[in-house]
Amino acid sequence: MARPIQASFDLTAFRSNFAIARRLAGVAKVMAVLKANAYGHGLLRVARALADADGLALLELDDAVRLRDAGYRQRILLLEGFFRADELPVILHHGFSVVIHNDEQMAMLGKLHGDRKLEVFVKLNTGMNRLGFPAVRAGRVLEQLKMLPCVGEVILTTHFSDAEGVSGIEWQMREFERHVARRGYARSLANSAALLRFPEARGDWVRPGIMLYGASPLEDRTAAQIGLRPAMSLTSEIIGIQNLKRGDTVGYGSLFTAHRETRIGVVACGYADGYPRHAYNGTPVVVDGVRVPMVGRVSMDMLCVDLSDIPKAGIGSPVTLWGAGLPVEEVAAAAGTVSYELLCALARRVPVEERGGD
Ligand SMILES: *Cc1c(COP(=O)(O)O)cnc(C)c1O
Repeated sequence: MARPIQASFDLTAFRSNFAIARRLAGVAKVMAVLKANAYGHGLLRVARALADADGLALLELDDAVRLRDAGYRQRILLLEGFFRADELPVILHHGFSVVIHNDEQMAMLGKLHGDRKLEVFVKLNTGMNRLGFPAVRAGRVLEQLKMLPCVGEVILTTHFSDAEGVSGIEWQMREFERHVARRGYARSLANSAALLRFPEARGDWVRPGIMLYGASPLEDRTAAQIGLRPAMSLTSEIIGIQNLKRGDTVGYGSLFTAHRETRIGVVACGYADGYPRHAYNGTPVVVDGVRVPMVGRVSMDMLCVDLSDIPKAGIGSPVTLWGAGLPVEEVAAAAGTVSYELLCALARRVPVEERGGD
C-alpha cells in the first residue's frame, strides 16, 4: 500500500477565490500571480482554473514559456523582468511583458533591434527597498524608455512592504504619487493584502497571489471571514500508535515528555513532505475531525500527535495537516512562518489529487 499522504487541490476554490479578487478589483484588470509553481499548487493546474484572468504573473522564464505553450494568450508578466540579455529574444518571441527595475536592464533594452515591441512595467521603489528605480528618478527613466524603439506600452508599478501590517501603504502611495501623479500612465500596485484593505490601491492592474490560493494575508481577518476557501489540503493518516507512561518522551531530541499516560499517534507526514520542522509542540493537527496537538519534533517522514482525548482514533484515522478544516495560516503561525512558505514547500514526493474539475 502506498504511503497515505496526499495533497488535494480544489479547483472550485481557485475559481471562487478569483471571483472575490475580481469583485474587489472593480474595473481594474486582474493579474493572477503564479510564481513558485503557483505557490506550490501546480502552474498549469492553476492556470487552467483561472483561465479568465486578464494576465498571469510569475518570474520564472521557463514557466512563462510553459504557459504560452499551453495556449494562454493573455498578458504574461515577468515580475523581475530579465536577468541577462540572452533572455530577450525568448521574451519577444512569446510576447511576454517585463518588469524593469534597474539601469542594467534599461541598457540591455537599448541594444534590442527589430520591430517587435515589448510591454514594460517600470518598477519604482517607494520604500520596500528591494527592487525598483528610486521613485524620484521616475521622470528620467520614463524619458529614457520613450527613446527606445522596442518599448511599447509602459505601465508604472510598485510593491508594498506593509500592506498587511500597521504601517499600511499610505506612505508608499504618497511617494508614488509625488513622482508620477500627473504622468498619465497605467498603474499596477496592489498585492492581495492591499487589494483586501485599500481600495485606493487598485490602479489599473491588481496582482493578487496568496488570496487566490485561499489563505488570508491579514492578521485581523481570517480567510473564512473574507470568504476565501483553501485550495490545497494536505492530508494523511495515523500509521502508528504508542502508549506512553508518565515520564516517557517522544521523537528525536526527546522534546516532548508525557506528564500523564499519553496515547500518541504517528502521522505519515514529515519535513520531507513540506511540513515545517520548526512547528512547536501544540501545533494543531486534525485527526478524525478533532483538533489535537502535535508533540515532539517533526522528523523527515513522520510527526506525532497526542490522541489522549480521542480514544476512538487509531491506525488509519484520517489526518488533516492543513487546508479544509484547518487554515494553513494557523499552522504557519505555530511554526513561526507564513502560509506562503508552507504552500510553496509542498514536496514533489507528495501524491496529488484534483477535485472540482469539469
Ligand atoms: C508575489 C507578488 C505579488 C503577490 O503577492 P501576494 O501577497 O501573494 O498577493 C504581487 N506582486 C509582486 C511583485 C509579487 O512579487
